[in-house]
Amino acid sequence: MRNTAVIIGAGPGGAAAAVRLAQRGVKDIVLVDKDRFPREKTCGSALSPNGLKIAEELGIGVDVKRLGYHIHSLVVVTPGKRQMHLRTTEGAAVVLLRKHFDNLLVERAKALGVQFRSEFRATELVRDGGGRVVGVRGKDDEIHADYVVAADGAHSIFSNDQRPKRTISTLMGWWEGMEFAPGTMEMIFDKNLSPLYGWMFPETDARVNIGICMDGEGPDGRKTERNVRDVFARFLEDHYASRLAGTRQIGKLKGHPISYTTWIRDCSDDGILFLGEAARITHNATGEGIFQAMQSGMYAADAVADVVSGRATEAKAWAHYTWQCRQRFTFGFVMGHVLRGALKTPLFDAIALAYNSPSVKKVATWALGSALAGSHLTGSAIPDEEAAMPSATPSRAAAN
Ligand SMILES: Cc1cc2nc3c(=O)[nH]c(=O)nc-3n(C[C@H](O)[C@H](O)[C@H](O)COP(=O)(O)OP(=O)(O)OC[C@H]3O[C@@H](n4cnc5c(N)ncnc54)[C@H](O)[C@@H]3O)c2cc1C
Repeated sequence: MRNTAVIIGAGPGGAAAAVRLAQRGVKDIVLVDKDRFPREKTCGSALSPNGLKIAEELGIGVDVKRLGYHIHSLVVVTPGKRQMHLRTTEGAAVVLLRKHFDNLLVERAKALGVQFRSEFRATELVRDGGGRVVGVRGKDDEIHADYVVAADGAHSIFSNDQRPKRTISTLMGWWEGMEFAPGTMEMIFDKNLSPLYGWMFPETDARVNIGICMDGEGPDGRKTERNVRDVFARFLEDHYASRLAGTRQIGKLKGHPISYTTWIRDCSDDGILFLGEAARITHNATGEGIFQAMQSGMYAADAVADVVSGRATEAKAWAHYTWQCRQRFTFGFVMGHVLRGALKTPLFDAIALAYNSPSVKKVATWALGSALAGSHLTGSAIPDEEAAMPSATPSRAAAN
Protein backbone atom coordinates (compact mmCIF):
# COMPACT_ATOMS: atom_id res chain seq x y z
CA MET A 1 0.00 0.00 0.00
CA ARG A 2 1.22 3.48 -0.76
CA ASN A 3 0.98 6.04 2.07
CA THR A 4 0.82 9.80 1.90
CA ALA A 5 3.75 10.33 4.27
CA VAL A 6 6.21 8.26 6.24
CA ILE A 7 8.04 9.94 9.10
CA ILE A 8 11.31 8.43 10.35
CA GLY A 9 11.79 9.02 14.10
CA ALA A 10 9.16 9.61 16.78
CA GLY A 11 11.06 12.14 18.89
CA PRO A 12 9.40 15.53 19.43
CA GLY A 13 10.17 16.58 15.83
CA GLY A 14 8.78 13.54 14.03
CA ALA A 15 5.82 13.07 16.36
CA ALA A 16 4.90 16.77 16.12
CA ALA A 17 4.97 16.49 12.32
CA ALA A 18 2.69 13.44 12.50
CA VAL A 19 0.20 15.18 14.81
CA ARG A 20 0.16 18.32 12.69
CA LEU A 21 -0.36 16.38 9.46
CA ALA A 22 -3.33 14.60 11.04
CA GLN A 23 -4.67 17.92 12.38
CA ARG A 24 -4.48 19.27 8.81
CA GLY A 25 -6.63 16.36 7.65
CA VAL A 26 -3.92 14.43 5.81
CA LYS A 27 -4.67 10.68 5.76
CA ASP A 28 -2.43 7.61 5.56
CA ILE A 29 0.50 8.78 7.65
CA VAL A 30 3.00 6.29 9.07
CA LEU A 31 5.35 7.20 11.93
CA VAL A 32 8.22 4.79 12.57
CA ASP A 33 10.80 4.53 15.34
CA LYS A 34 13.56 2.02 16.01
CA ASP A 35 12.54 1.87 19.69
CA ARG A 36 9.52 0.56 21.54
CA PHE A 37 7.63 3.37 23.32
CA PRO A 38 7.63 4.66 25.99
CA ARG A 39 11.42 4.83 25.81
CA GLU A 40 14.10 6.73 27.72
CA LYS A 41 15.94 9.65 26.07
CA THR A 42 18.99 11.33 27.56
CA CYS A 43 17.79 14.90 28.05
CA GLY A 44 17.38 17.64 30.65
CA SER A 45 13.69 17.39 29.68
CA ALA A 46 12.99 21.11 30.15
CA LEU A 47 10.26 22.58 28.00
CA SER A 48 10.61 26.31 27.49
CA PRO A 49 7.53 28.56 27.28
CA ASN A 50 7.91 28.36 23.47
CA GLY A 51 7.85 24.57 23.68
CA LEU A 52 4.80 24.63 25.94
CA LYS A 53 2.94 26.82 23.49
CA ILE A 54 3.52 24.27 20.73
CA ALA A 55 2.57 21.38 23.02
CA GLU A 56 -0.75 23.16 23.50
CA GLU A 57 -1.27 23.62 19.76
CA LEU A 58 -0.60 19.91 19.30
CA GLY A 59 -3.22 19.05 21.90
CA ILE A 60 -1.04 17.73 24.75
CA GLY A 61 -0.65 20.96 26.75
CA VAL A 62 -3.03 19.95 29.54
CA ASP A 63 -1.32 16.59 30.04
CA VAL A 64 2.15 18.12 29.98
CA LYS A 65 1.17 20.63 32.65
CA ARG A 66 -0.52 17.93 34.73
CA LEU A 67 2.40 15.50 34.61
CA GLY A 68 5.35 17.92 34.55
CA TYR A 69 7.25 19.78 37.27
CA HIS A 70 6.58 23.51 37.06
CA ILE A 71 9.43 25.99 36.98
CA HIS A 72 8.91 29.65 37.84
CA SER A 73 12.43 30.87 38.39
CA LEU A 74 16.00 30.49 37.29
CA VAL A 75 19.21 31.04 39.22
CA VAL A 76 22.10 31.97 36.93
CA VAL A 77 25.64 31.68 38.31
CA THR A 78 28.30 33.65 36.41
CA PRO A 79 31.87 32.47 35.73
CA GLY A 80 32.93 34.73 38.65
CA LYS A 81 30.43 32.85 40.85
CA ARG A 82 27.96 35.71 41.20
CA GLN A 83 24.27 34.82 41.24
CA MET A 84 21.32 36.39 39.48
CA HIS A 85 17.77 35.32 40.12
CA LEU A 86 15.27 35.54 37.27
CA ARG A 87 11.59 34.89 37.69
CA THR A 88 8.97 34.25 35.05
CA THR A 89 5.99 36.56 35.01
CA GLU A 90 4.14 34.47 32.46
CA GLY A 91 4.24 31.00 30.92
CA ALA A 92 6.51 29.08 33.29
CA ALA A 93 8.71 26.28 31.97
CA VAL A 94 7.96 22.63 32.71
CA VAL A 95 10.29 19.67 33.22
CA LEU A 96 8.78 16.40 32.07
CA LEU A 97 10.83 13.26 31.52
CA ARG A 98 11.21 12.59 27.81
CA LYS A 99 9.96 9.07 28.35
CA HIS A 100 6.57 10.58 29.18
CA PHE A 101 6.64 13.67 26.96
CA ASP A 102 7.56 11.84 23.75
CA ASN A 103 5.01 9.15 24.51
CA LEU A 104 2.26 11.75 24.98
CA LEU A 105 2.96 13.06 21.47
CA VAL A 106 3.02 9.57 19.95
CA GLU A 107 -0.25 8.63 21.68
CA ARG A 108 -1.79 11.87 20.43
CA ALA A 109 -0.69 11.04 16.88
CA LYS A 110 -2.19 7.55 17.19
CA ALA A 111 -5.45 8.96 18.51
CA LEU A 112 -5.65 11.16 15.41
CA GLY A 113 -5.29 8.15 13.11
CA VAL A 114 -1.54 8.02 12.51
CA GLN A 115 -0.18 4.49 12.15
CA PHE A 116 2.75 4.06 14.54
CA ARG A 117 5.30 1.32 13.87
CA SER A 118 7.70 0.93 16.78
CA GLU A 119 10.87 -1.18 16.53
CA PHE A 120 11.18 -0.31 12.86
CA ARG A 121 14.78 0.70 12.25
CA ALA A 122 15.02 2.53 8.95
CA THR A 123 18.23 1.58 7.20
CA GLU A 124 17.96 3.18 3.80
CA LEU A 125 15.85 5.51 1.72
CA VAL A 126 13.97 3.99 -1.22
CA ARG A 127 14.35 5.96 -4.46
CA ASP A 128 12.66 5.68 -7.82
CA GLY A 129 14.53 5.56 -11.13
CA GLY A 130 14.86 9.35 -11.16
CA GLY A 131 16.42 9.46 -7.69
CA ARG A 132 13.31 10.78 -5.98
CA VAL A 133 12.80 9.51 -2.42
CA VAL A 134 9.66 7.35 -2.38
CA GLY A 135 9.95 5.43 0.86
CA VAL A 136 12.12 3.87 3.50
CA ARG A 137 13.61 0.42 3.93
CA GLY A 138 13.70 -1.46 7.23
CA LYS A 139 15.20 -4.83 8.11
CA ASP A 140 12.23 -6.85 6.88
CA ASP A 141 10.17 -4.58 4.68
CA GLU A 142 9.78 -1.27 2.90
CA ILE A 143 7.26 1.49 3.52
CA HIS A 144 6.38 3.48 0.42
CA ALA A 145 4.96 7.01 0.57
CA ASP A 146 4.44 10.09 -1.56
CA TYR A 147 6.55 12.09 0.92
CA VAL A 148 9.22 11.12 3.44
CA VAL A 149 10.14 13.15 6.52
CA ALA A 150 13.49 12.45 8.21
CA ALA A 151 13.41 13.20 11.95
CA ASP A 152 16.03 10.71 13.14
CA GLY A 153 17.86 13.01 15.52
CA ALA A 154 21.50 13.96 16.20
CA HIS A 155 22.97 10.78 14.67
CA SER A 156 20.83 11.04 11.53
CA ILE A 157 21.90 8.64 8.82
CA PHE A 158 19.60 10.34 6.32
CA SER A 159 20.62 14.00 6.66
CA ASN A 160 21.80 15.54 3.40
CA ASP A 161 23.95 18.10 5.24
CA GLN A 162 27.54 17.36 4.22
CA ARG A 163 29.12 20.14 6.29
CA PRO A 164 31.41 19.12 9.18
CA LYS A 165 29.32 18.65 12.30
CA ARG A 166 29.38 21.09 15.20
CA THR A 167 28.34 19.46 18.43
CA ILE A 168 27.83 20.09 22.11
CA SER A 169 29.10 17.28 24.37
CA THR A 170 26.95 16.48 27.37
CA LEU A 171 26.95 14.29 30.45
CA MET A 172 24.21 14.10 33.04
CA GLY A 173 22.87 12.11 35.98
CA TRP A 174 19.83 11.84 38.25
CA TRP A 175 19.67 12.15 42.04
CA GLU A 176 16.99 11.81 44.68
CA GLY A 177 16.88 13.74 47.93
CA MET A 178 18.91 16.83 47.01
CA GLU A 179 17.99 20.21 48.47
CA PHE A 180 16.71 22.82 46.02
CA ALA A 181 14.51 25.89 46.05
CA PRO A 182 11.08 24.73 44.84
CA GLY A 183 10.29 25.54 41.21
CA THR A 184 13.80 26.80 40.54
CA MET A 185 16.29 25.74 37.88
CA GLU A 186 19.98 26.45 38.17
CA MET A 187 22.35 27.30 35.29
CA ILE A 188 26.02 27.55 36.20
CA PHE A 189 28.35 29.21 33.71
CA ASP A 190 31.47 27.52 35.04
CA LYS A 191 34.82 28.62 33.55
CA ASN A 192 35.69 24.98 32.81
CA LEU A 193 32.64 24.68 30.56
CA SER A 194 32.98 28.10 28.93
CA PRO A 195 31.13 29.29 26.95
CA LEU A 196 28.57 26.66 27.89
CA TYR A 197 27.24 25.69 31.31
CA GLY A 198 26.14 23.12 33.83
CA TRP A 199 22.59 22.79 35.04
CA MET A 200 20.32 21.45 37.75
CA PHE A 201 16.72 20.83 36.69
CA PRO A 202 14.18 19.55 39.23
CA GLU A 203 12.00 16.77 37.79
CA THR A 204 9.79 16.19 40.86
CA ASP A 205 9.76 17.41 44.49
CA ALA A 206 12.34 14.71 45.21
CA ARG A 207 14.37 14.12 42.03
CA VAL A 208 16.70 16.35 40.04
CA ASN A 209 18.86 15.95 36.97
CA ILE A 210 22.29 17.59 36.91
CA GLY A 211 24.41 17.84 33.80
CA ILE A 212 27.04 19.73 31.87
CA CYS A 213 27.40 20.78 28.27
CA MET A 214 30.61 21.88 26.60
CA ASP A 215 31.83 22.35 23.06
CA GLY A 216 32.47 19.07 21.28
CA GLU A 217 35.03 20.67 18.95
CA GLY A 218 37.69 23.34 19.29
CA PRO A 219 37.70 26.55 17.16
CA ASP A 220 39.59 24.61 14.44
CA GLY A 221 36.69 22.14 14.23
CA ARG A 222 38.73 19.26 15.68
CA LYS A 223 37.13 17.07 18.34
CA THR A 224 38.09 18.23 21.82
CA GLU A 225 40.31 15.86 23.75
CA ARG A 226 38.95 16.86 27.15
CA ASN A 227 37.40 13.97 29.01
CA VAL A 228 33.79 14.92 29.70
CA ARG A 229 33.62 12.54 32.70
CA ASP A 230 36.56 14.27 34.37
CA VAL A 231 35.05 17.69 33.67
CA PHE A 232 31.71 16.56 35.12
CA ALA A 233 33.35 15.14 38.26
CA ARG A 234 35.10 18.47 38.82
CA PHE A 235 31.86 20.38 38.19
CA LEU A 236 29.98 18.30 40.77
CA GLU A 237 32.81 18.72 43.25
CA ASP A 238 32.93 22.50 42.75
CA HIS A 239 29.19 23.18 42.83
CA TYR A 240 27.22 20.31 44.31
CA ALA A 241 29.47 18.30 46.64
CA SER A 242 27.79 19.38 49.87
CA ARG A 243 24.24 19.24 48.49
CA LEU A 244 24.73 15.78 47.01
CA ALA A 245 26.11 14.32 50.21
CA GLY A 246 23.62 11.76 51.52
CA THR A 247 21.52 11.75 48.34
CA ARG A 248 20.86 8.72 46.13
CA GLN A 249 22.05 8.58 42.54
CA ILE A 250 19.50 7.01 40.19
CA GLY A 251 20.99 4.97 37.34
CA LYS A 252 24.19 5.70 35.49
CA LEU A 253 25.57 8.92 34.06
CA LYS A 254 24.51 9.37 30.45
CA GLY A 255 25.78 11.50 27.61
CA HIS A 256 24.73 12.28 24.05
CA PRO A 257 25.93 14.88 21.54
CA ILE A 258 23.73 17.80 20.52
CA SER A 259 24.17 18.76 16.87
CA TYR A 260 23.78 22.45 15.98
CA THR A 261 24.19 24.91 13.17
CA THR A 262 23.90 28.67 12.75
CA TRP A 263 22.82 28.76 9.13
CA ILE A 264 20.17 26.14 8.43
CA ARG A 265 20.99 24.28 5.25
CA ASP A 266 18.34 23.61 2.60
CA CYS A 267 16.21 21.10 4.55
CA SER A 268 14.76 19.31 1.54
CA ASP A 269 15.44 17.04 -1.39
CA ASP A 270 13.27 15.48 -4.03
CA GLY A 271 10.44 13.81 -2.06
CA ILE A 272 11.92 14.35 1.41
CA LEU A 273 12.15 16.96 4.21
CA PHE A 274 14.58 17.02 7.14
CA LEU A 275 13.75 18.47 10.54
CA GLY A 276 14.77 18.85 14.19
CA GLU A 277 18.20 17.61 15.13
CA ALA A 278 18.47 15.67 11.86
CA ALA A 279 18.65 19.18 10.35
CA ARG A 280 20.88 20.44 13.24
CA ILE A 281 18.15 22.80 14.44
CA THR A 282 19.10 23.33 18.11
CA HIS A 283 20.23 26.37 20.09
CA ASN A 284 24.03 26.69 20.13
CA ALA A 285 24.25 28.46 23.50
CA THR A 286 21.67 26.53 25.53
CA GLY A 287 21.41 23.15 23.77
CA GLU A 288 17.62 23.56 23.68
CA GLY A 289 16.16 21.37 20.93
CA ILE A 290 12.70 20.12 21.89
CA PHE A 291 10.91 23.32 20.92
CA GLN A 292 12.99 23.66 17.73
CA ALA A 293 12.26 20.04 16.76
CA MET A 294 8.50 20.45 17.28
CA GLN A 295 8.38 23.82 15.52
CA SER A 296 10.29 22.54 12.48
CA GLY A 297 8.07 19.43 12.55
CA MET A 298 4.99 21.61 12.32
CA TYR A 299 6.45 23.63 9.46
CA ALA A 300 7.38 20.42 7.61
CA ALA A 301 3.88 19.03 8.11
CA ASP A 302 2.39 22.26 6.76
CA ALA A 303 4.60 21.99 3.67
CA VAL A 304 3.46 18.42 3.00
CA ALA A 305 -0.19 19.28 3.71
CA ASP A 306 -0.01 22.24 1.31
CA VAL A 307 1.26 20.00 -1.49
CA VAL A 308 -1.29 17.27 -0.75
CA SER A 309 -4.16 19.77 -0.81
CA GLY A 310 -2.90 21.35 -4.02
CA ARG A 311 -2.26 24.74 -2.39
CA ALA A 312 1.39 24.70 -3.46
CA THR A 313 3.73 22.81 -5.72
CA GLU A 314 6.34 20.66 -4.02
CA ALA A 315 9.16 23.00 -5.12
CA LYS A 316 7.37 26.01 -3.65
CA ALA A 317 6.34 24.28 -0.41
CA TRP A 318 9.84 22.82 0.16
CA ALA A 319 11.51 26.20 -0.38
CA HIS A 320 8.99 27.86 1.94
CA TYR A 321 9.73 25.25 4.62
CA THR A 322 13.47 26.02 4.69
CA TRP A 323 12.71 29.75 4.61
CA GLN A 324 10.32 29.40 7.58
CA CYS A 325 12.94 27.55 9.62
CA ARG A 326 15.58 30.16 8.83
CA GLN A 327 13.20 33.01 9.60
CA ARG A 328 12.12 31.49 12.93
CA PHE A 329 15.50 30.37 14.24
CA THR A 330 18.42 32.26 12.67
CA PHE A 331 18.15 35.39 14.82
CA GLY A 332 18.12 33.28 18.00
CA PHE A 333 21.10 31.25 16.78
CA VAL A 334 23.07 34.41 16.03
CA MET A 335 22.17 35.78 19.48
CA GLY A 336 23.40 32.47 20.89
CA HIS A 337 26.82 33.23 19.43
CA VAL A 338 26.68 36.75 20.87
CA LEU A 339 25.95 35.22 24.29
CA ARG A 340 28.80 32.73 23.83
CA GLY A 341 31.15 35.61 23.02
CA ALA A 342 29.98 37.67 26.00
CA LEU A 343 30.50 34.71 28.32
CA LYS A 344 34.18 34.64 27.42
CA THR A 345 34.59 38.22 28.66
CA PRO A 346 34.09 39.76 32.14
CA LEU A 347 30.82 41.33 30.87
CA PHE A 348 28.56 38.72 32.45
CA ASP A 349 30.19 39.22 35.87
CA ALA A 350 29.98 42.99 35.49
CA ILE A 351 26.24 42.70 34.79
CA ALA A 352 25.83 40.51 37.85
CA LEU A 353 27.75 43.04 39.94
CA ALA A 354 25.50 45.90 38.79
CA TYR A 355 22.39 43.73 39.01
CA ASN A 356 21.04 45.52 42.10
CA SER A 357 20.53 48.66 40.04
CA PRO A 358 16.88 48.61 38.87
CA SER A 359 17.72 49.80 35.35
CA VAL A 360 20.49 47.23 34.86
CA LYS A 361 18.24 44.55 36.32
CA LYS A 362 15.45 45.40 33.92
CA VAL A 363 17.57 45.30 30.77
CA ALA A 364 19.74 42.37 31.88
CA THR A 365 16.83 40.18 32.89
CA TRP A 366 14.99 40.92 29.69
CA ALA A 367 18.04 40.13 27.54
CA LEU A 368 19.12 37.10 29.55
CA GLY A 369 15.63 35.76 29.96
CA SER A 370 14.90 36.07 26.27
CA ALA A 371 18.21 34.43 25.34
CA LEU A 372 18.00 31.57 27.82
CA ALA A 373 14.35 30.87 28.42
CA GLY A 374 12.46 32.55 25.60
CA SER A 375 10.22 34.11 28.23
CA HIS A 376 9.56 37.38 29.99
CA LEU A 377 11.38 37.41 33.29
CA THR A 378 11.80 39.75 36.22
CA GLY A 379 14.97 39.66 38.24
CA SER A 380 16.41 40.05 41.69
CA ALA A 381 19.95 40.00 42.96
CA ILE A 382 21.04 37.22 45.24
CA PRO A 383 21.51 37.04 48.13
CA ASP A 384 18.34 38.91 48.99
CA GLU A 385 15.73 36.24 48.69
CA GLU A 386 14.61 32.91 49.83
CA ALA A 387 15.20 31.48 46.38
CA ALA A 388 19.00 31.57 46.30
CA MET A 389 20.66 28.24 45.53
CA PRO A 390 20.71 26.25 48.72
CA SER A 391 24.26 25.71 49.86
CA ALA A 392 25.24 25.56 53.52
CA THR A 393 21.74 26.49 54.66
CA PRO A 394 19.20 24.90 52.37
CA SER A 395 15.92 26.72 51.97
CA ARG A 396 13.89 23.59 52.00
CA ALA A 397 14.35 19.90 52.33
CA ALA A 398 13.03 18.77 49.01
CA ALA A 399 13.18 15.06 49.59
CA ASN A 400 9.99 13.40 50.64
C1 LIG B 1 22.00 15.70 27.75
C2 LIG B 1 21.03 16.47 26.93
C3 LIG B 1 20.16 17.37 27.56
C4 LIG B 1 19.22 18.07 26.80
N1 LIG B 1 18.34 18.88 27.47
C5 LIG B 1 17.39 19.53 26.78
C6 LIG B 1 16.40 20.28 27.46
O1 LIG B 1 16.36 20.32 28.69
N2 LIG B 1 15.48 20.94 26.72
C7 LIG B 1 15.47 20.90 25.35
O2 LIG B 1 14.63 21.55 24.73
N3 LIG B 1 16.38 20.16 24.68
C8 LIG B 1 17.33 19.46 25.35
N4 LIG B 1 18.22 18.68 24.67
C9 LIG B 1 18.14 18.59 23.20
C10 LIG B 1 17.00 17.65 22.77
O3 LIG B 1 17.09 16.43 23.48
C11 LIG B 1 17.06 17.35 21.27
O4 LIG B 1 17.45 18.47 20.54
C12 LIG B 1 15.69 16.85 20.76
O5 LIG B 1 15.40 15.59 21.33
C13 LIG B 1 15.68 16.73 19.23
O6 LIG B 1 14.44 16.17 18.83
P1 LIG B 1 14.31 15.32 17.48
O7 LIG B 1 12.91 14.90 17.40
O8 LIG B 1 14.91 16.08 16.36
O9 LIG B 1 15.28 14.06 17.69
P2 LIG B 1 15.25 12.94 18.82
O10 LIG B 1 14.57 13.39 20.03
O11 LIG B 1 16.66 12.48 18.94
O12 LIG B 1 14.37 11.78 18.18
C14 LIG B 1 14.84 11.02 17.12
C15 LIG B 1 14.05 9.71 17.11
O13 LIG B 1 14.42 8.98 15.93
C16 LIG B 1 14.57 7.61 16.25
N5 LIG B 1 15.51 7.06 15.27
C17 LIG B 1 16.81 7.36 15.09
N6 LIG B 1 17.32 6.67 14.08
C18 LIG B 1 16.31 5.91 13.58
C19 LIG B 1 16.21 4.98 12.51
N7 LIG B 1 17.27 4.69 11.74
N8 LIG B 1 15.03 4.37 12.28
C20 LIG B 1 13.96 4.65 13.06
N9 LIG B 1 14.00 5.52 14.08
C21 LIG B 1 15.15 6.16 14.34
C22 LIG B 1 15.11 7.62 17.68
O14 LIG B 1 14.83 6.39 18.33
C23 LIG B 1 14.37 8.80 18.29
O15 LIG B 1 13.16 8.40 18.90
C24 LIG B 1 19.16 17.93 25.39
C25 LIG B 1 20.02 17.02 24.76
C26 LIG B 1 20.93 16.29 25.51
C27 LIG B 1 21.84 15.32 24.82
